[in-house]
Amino acid sequence: MAQLPVCQHCHTQWTYWQALKNSFFLRCPYCNKRNYAKKFRRRDFMYSLIAAVITLFILPSLDMDRIWTFAWATVAVVIYMAVYPFNLEMTKEDPFSRK
Ligand SMILES: [Zn+2]
Repeated sequence: MAQLPVCQHCHTQWTYWQALKNSFFLRCPYCNKRNYAKKFRRRDFMYSLIAAVITLFILPSLDMDRIWTFAWATVAVVIYMAVYPFNLEMTKEDPFSRK
């Protein structure tokens, strides 16, 4: 079941559009505090890898028009953005600034 992210400061669940709009900085629209993505998600990694392999190796080997490669890359990015808010787990601490 897809879950929308919950702010770890004020525990308000974001709507889909709020999560999409704030997906880069993850700043809460309710309490204005910053959240961080909890962990590097395996799903994201797999998705990027598959998209990159298709774009760089499979499409050129099919001898298709360059415009189709570009169209595919655009669609891949759009799909990625569209599913991003789901299952996004947030934390108060910056995972990159840990001692
Ligand atoms: Zn909040």
